[in-house]
Amino acid sequence: MKKYILFIALLLFLTGCGKVLLTQRQQLLLVSDYDMRALGSQQYQEILSKSKVVRDTNDYQRVLRVGNRIAGAVDDFARSQGIEEYTMGYKWEFNLIDDNKAMNAFCLPGGKIAVYTGLLPVTKDDTGLAVVLAHEIAHALAKHGEERMSHILLLEFGGATLSNAIKEQPEETKKNLLLAFGIGANVGVLLPYNRLQESEADRIGLSMMAYAGYDPHVALALWSRMEKLETSRPPEFLSTHPLSSERIKAIKEEIPEAMKYYRLYK
Ligand SMILES: [Zn+2]
Repeated sequence: MKKYILFIALLLFLTGCGKVLLTQRQQLLLVSDYDMRALGSQQYQEILSKSKVVRDTNDYQRVLRVGNRIAGAVDDFARSQGIEEYTMGYKWEFNLIDDNKAMNAFCLPGGKIAVYTGLLPVTKDDTGLAVVLAHEIAHALAKHGEERMSHILLLEFGGATLSNAIKEQPEETKKNLLLAFGIGANVGVLLPYNRLQESEADRIGLSMMAYAGYDPHVALALWSRMEKLETSRPPEFLSTHPLSSERIKAIKEEIPEAMKYYRLYK
C-alpha cells in the first residue's frame, strides 16, 4: 500500500506540481485554481451567513483600508514580476466578524478574507493589522490550502480528482475541504498549517506588507504583544502560530529581504 501511494505520489508530482511564490518551493497541486476559488468563495459565504458581520464602524473601515492596500500591492507585485497567474481570478473581499473572543483572521482561496473583532485590540493600528492580513493572504498566495487538499486527495482518496471525490464521497470530501482551508468544526477556530507553510507565510507576508508600504519591522512588536497575552488569555492565533524562538529569529532574519520590497505607498 505504501509503495502504491509513493508511486502515485511520484506520478502526480510529475504531472501536478507548482512553485510557491517568492520561495520557489516545488509543491504538489492536484486541484485546479478554478475549483479551489469556487469552493473558497462558497465556503466564505457560508461562514458569513452564520456570523454577525460588522459594517459601518471605524474597525470595519480599518480592515477594508489595510486589506485593500495589501491586495492592491499583491496585484501590482504579481504584474511587475509577470506572475499574474497567482492572483488571476481573485476577487478580493474583506469582512469583519463580530466575535470579541476570537483573536483570529483567515484568507480563503480567491482572496476571501475575514477578521474577527477579537484580533483588533492586539493588532492595535493599521500596520499591526497589516502583519496578520499579509500573513493570511500569503497562505492563499502560496496555495497552502490547495497543497493540503492535494495531500488529502492523495492519502485518503487514492489520488482521485477533487470532482470525483466530491461525487463519490460528498460529505467526507466537504469535511476534508474545510480542513484543507484550515477551518475547524467551530466557526472562529482555525487549524494550523504545517511549520514549513507557516514560515513560508511569514516570509511572503513580510515582503507583501513591505510592498504595500507597511514597515515589516512592526511584525516583531506585534508578535511580542501576542506573546505577552499568551499567559493571561492565550490568543487562538498563537495556538495555530506558535511563537518559537526559531520563528522569531527567522522573522528577524527575513526583515532585510522584505525591506528590499518596501516602497512608499502612493
Ligand atoms: Zn499562518
